[in-house]
Amino acid sequence: MSIKRRDFLKTAAGSSLLLAAGTSTAWGASAQDELPPKALGILYDSNLCIGCQACMTACKRANDMPAEHSGPNSIWDNPLDLSAKTLNIIKMYTSGEEQAFVKRQCMHCLEPACAAACPVSALRKDPETGVVTYDKDACIGCRYCQIACPYNVPKFEWDDPFPQIQKCQLCDHLYDQGRYAACCEACPTGASLFGPVKDLQEEAQRRLLMEPGRYYEFPVNHIQKGSAVRHRAKAYVDHIYGAQELGGTQVMLLAGTDFQNLGLPELKATSYVRDLEGISKGLYKYMLYPVAALGGLLYVVKKRGGHDERP
Ligand code: SF4
Ligand code: SF4
Ligand code: SF4
Repeated sequence: MSIKRRDFLKTAAGSSLLLAAGTSTAWGASAQDELPPKALGILYDSNLCIGCQACMTACKRANDMPAEHSGPNSIWDNPLDLSAKTLNIIKMYTSGEEQAFVKRQCMHCLEPACAAACPVSALRKDPETGVVTYDKDACIGCRYCQIACPYNVPKFEWDDPFPQIQKCQLCDHLYDQGRYAACCEACPTGASLFGPVKDLQEEAQRRLLMEPGRYYEFPVNHIQKGSAVRHRAKAYVDHIYGAQELGGTQVMLLAGTDFQNLGLPELKATSYVRDLEGISKGLYKYMLYPVAALGGLLYVVKKRGGHDERP
C-alpha cells in the first residue's frame, strides 16, 4: 500500500492530536470491543445506487441546510464535496466502461478520532446508539476534529460570524418522531438502508454471497420497517467497507469496484485511538507531553494546505 505524503501528514497530525488530548477515555471516546447496545447505522450499496440524489435533497431538508452555489448567479449547483452546507453527497466514479456511485457522509466510527481529539467533548459517541453527535454550545472552534478525522468529514462554517462544525449526526433529531435517517427514508432502491448495525452487517454478508445475474429481494429504506424490491444482483468486491477499517464504523459500504476507486482511504484494522491509548500512558509516565510534536506537525500540515479548508 503506498501512502501519499498528504495522507501521512494527516495521520501524523491526527495521531499527535489524540496524544495531546491524553487518554481518550477522559474525553468521551474510548476503544470499544463491541458495538453499543442499540447501535444504529446505514448500509450503502453502490451496486443499487442509481445516482438520483434523492438522499441529498432529503438530507438538506431534514437538516435545514441551504443550497450551494458555485457562482454569483444564484443557480443551485450540485456540490462537489461535503461542506458545511452539505452533510451527504453522492459522487460518481468513471473509468472506461466502468461506472459506480458512492455516498459520502460521517461514518460514525466505533472509535471516533474526532471525539478523542476534541478537548471539550463537543463531539461524543452516544453510549446507546453509537451515533457521533456534536454540541455547538461546547465547541470552541479549534477544529482539531477536522484534522483528526481519517475520512475528512467535519466541516467548519468559515462564512458564519458564529461558526460551528457541521457533519452528519445520523438524523438523531428525527427519532422521537418515529422517523430515521432522511437519506434512507428517501432512497427508492434500497441503496441507502437504515437500521440496527447488527442487522445491516448480516444483510451485507448475505449480499456478498449472492450469485451475480440472479434476482433477489432487497429491503428498502429501513431494514426492519421498510418494504422490499427485487433487483438483479451484480458482482460485489468481497469486502464490507467499515467492517474493520480503524476498528469499524456504523456506516458501511458495499461496491462492485475497489473502494479506493471510490475515494475511500485504505485503512488498517485497529484505530488510532486504541493505538495511542498505550503510547500516551507511557509518555505521561515520563512527563513527555508531546506539545512540540503537535505544534510542528500542525505547522507542516497547514503549510502544505492539507487541512485548512478556508476558501
Ligand atoms: S468519520 Fe470522522 S467525523 Fe465521523 S465519527 Fe469518524 S472520525 Fe468522527
Ligand atoms: S472545533 Fe469544536 S468539535 Fe472540533 S475539536 Fe474543537 S471544540 Fe471539538
Ligand atoms: S443520516 Fe441524516 S444527516 Fe446523515 S447523511 Fe443521512 S440524511 Fe444526511
